[in-house]
Amino acid sequence: MRAHDESVRVEEVAQRLAAVRARIAAACEAAGRSPDEVALIAVTKTFPASDVAVLAGLGVRDIGENKDQEAAPKAAELAALGLPLRWHFVGQLQVNKCASVVRYADFVHSVDRERLVRALGSRARAAGRVVTCLVQVALDDAPGRGGALPADVPALASAVSAEDGLLLGGVMAVAPLGEPGRPAFARLRQVADVIRSAHPGATMISAGMSADLDDAIAEGSTHVRVGTALLGSRRAFVR
Ligand SMILES: *Cc1c(COP(=O)(O)O)cnc(C)c1O
Repeated sequence: MRAHDESVRVEEVAQRLAAVRARIAAACEAAGRSPDEVALIAVTKTFPASDVAVLAGLGVRDIGENKDQEAAPKAAELAALGLPLRWHFVGQLQVNKCASVVRYADFVHSVDRERLVRALGSRARAAGRVVTCLVQVALDDAPGRGGALPADVPALASAVSAEDGLLLGGVMAVAPLGEPGRPAFARLRQVADVIRSAHPGATMISAGMSADLDDAIAEGSTHVRVGTALLGSRRAFVR
């Protein structure tokens, strides 16, 4: 990027970041929580590595990506710059991508089946890495968007916690389409409470995106995953 374009982008992202941080602070205040309780993960999918560097320069440390084929080269590019980032894999994950993902991801938010637990565990051990895993909870009955049914989450959480090379971080969810977020996030909080009573270290609740981070924080989210509000609209894509 040319120097002028780059400074324009830094200015734009800085303003967006300030607005997101203000929203997080306001939601925390309304919920009687401290803003320190909520971490911001910048979801940079479809945006170039230069934007990740811009965010890092503005003090963002946690970066989220949802596709290995995009995340792996981006993480390598940023690692070469020596920036101290933590990478969060937040997308649906295939077993055959686990070997690649464990090499850069510090967190995997989308663990929703036992096969994935075993694959992540064996790949993490082979790579000499420790990966913190969140169990993704399906908050609706629509299949295909990822996530385990709430009834299956305790067994999956125990499987993660028993697997060498993996740590159980907590739970993650995406709000259901066409339903207000807050009651769905309240259901997630109940699942999180059950998991934490069995695994006291599993304190993470990864919930809330650009459109609904306020509702998620009201229901106990500890990690919001924000893309559009920080970086602008992504090109339309078809899934
Ligand atoms: C893209 C994505 C986000 C960020 O969504 P925005 O609406 O752009 O803030 C959060 N979580 C997951 C799992 C995503 O895929």
